[in-house]
Amino acid sequence: MLPKNLNEIVMGYIEPAPIKDKENPFESMMSRFHIASQALGLDDEVYNVLKSPAKQVVVSLPVTMDDGSIEVFEGYRVIHSSILGPSKGGVRYDMGVNLDEVKALAAWMTWKCAVVDIPYGGAKGGITCNPRQMSKGEIERLTRAYTIAMIEIFGQDRDIPAPDMGTGPREMAWMMDAYSKAYGTTVNAVVTGKPLVLGGSLGRVEATGRGVMVSTLVAMEKLKINPYHATCAVQGFGNVGANAAMLLEERGVKVIAISDISGAYYNNKGINIREAMDYRNQNNGSMSGFTGAESIPAEDLLTLEVDVIIPAAKEDVITTQNASDIKAKLIVEGANGPTSANADAIINDKGIMVAPDILANAGGVTVSYFEWVQNRLGYKWTRERVNRRMDRIMKESFERVYKASLEYDVPMRIAAYIVAIDNVAQTYKYRGGY
Ligand code: GLU
Repeated sequence: MLPKNLNEIVMGYIEPAPIKDKENPFESMMSRFHIASQALGLDDEVYNVLKSPAKQVVVSLPVTMDDGSIEVFEGYRVIHSSILGPSKGGVRYDMGVNLDEVKALAAWMTWKCAVVDIPYGGAKGGITCNPRQMSKGEIERLTRAYTIAMIEIFGQDRDIPAPDMGTGPREMAWMMDAYSKAYGTTVNAVVTGKPLVLGGSLGRVEATGRGVMVSTLVAMEKLKINPYHATCAVQGFGNVGANAAMLLEERGVKVIAISDISGAYYNNKGINIREAMDYRNQNNGSMSGFTGAESIPAEDLLTLEVDVIIPAAKEDVITTQNASDIKAKLIVEGANGPTSANADAIINDKGIMVAPDILANAGGVTVSYFEWVQNRLGYKWTRERVNRRMDRIMKESFERVYKASLEYDVPMRIAAYIVAIDNVAQTYKYRGGY
């Protein structure tokens, strides 16, 4: 029998999985997975298959640094599931990368691909490093070493990396080249998010931000918020946040606050996003010193008096510490895992709608899929075709999740997990185990 009310689930009639550490992204992911599995009535067999990653690879990568010394970096690739197809997910370069984080991000990729119904499983990779303090040559050698260490893991029909935090088209080009050299033939479909000339797709760079914009507009429609009268604050002014802000501004939304690692910037008349992007591009990627807005404390951004907040930076920024101070009616998660599991209940109690990460930021992997399809076809689509198809997938996926949230009487996040888990579970039932 399906529980009809999420409060019953959250309040303990059905025990949520214990959360050992609220800041641990893997525990956060598991707690939502557990709640959604209960709501869905998932059987134990499938639950057990999906609760742990299918494969975890940890490698040591000795790299010659510019000064001639050798530094050994730790690299990871976790394949959470290949049930829906080859596993898919980015590779993150950051000092905070560790196995637990990569495991959570890999599982999120499974749910993300499943919620938008693209034929991929989920994976994630990472290297514990600080790319900001490394030279281009050092990053290139590290990227090639990682690719060769993962040569038997990656493959256009096996496991397909893409950019994530700290990586972009440049790193994807090196990965594609190292992999292709090792096999003696060009295999451009082994990696997505490549530069255009190497078989990258038009629209891929802006895809995640565009998907966030589409999700925001569909959610606003449900909440009867007129974009032309709406205000928004965006945390993170990287690829996802800046593109989402720009595309929303183009559709009438007033973006009154943005932030990046240098701090937060506020202008109640609306920030000129193009100007802000130009400033950032000419200022070494930083908003520091931006005069188109006044500086405010970074932690104030998420609790501003706005209609929409878009956390598009990193994990665990909405926690029990600040969730009760949020004034927005809508949270659209551009980042992966920006809300800790313990903050969910507070947000639900306040009646705030959440377009959850696995739905809202799925535009990136959707266009990665289009890139892979184009590579396999040996063909190139126009930007219009890419955008049109992605917009359609994002809208349809949002509607599917919204419908499930009404049907099961659960918030959008749990509904997204329900849709995703159901897709993977049904596929697993047909495919079977050993
Ligand atoms: N790293 C992105 C994400 O978290 C993109 C993954 C991909 O395109 O495979 O969704």
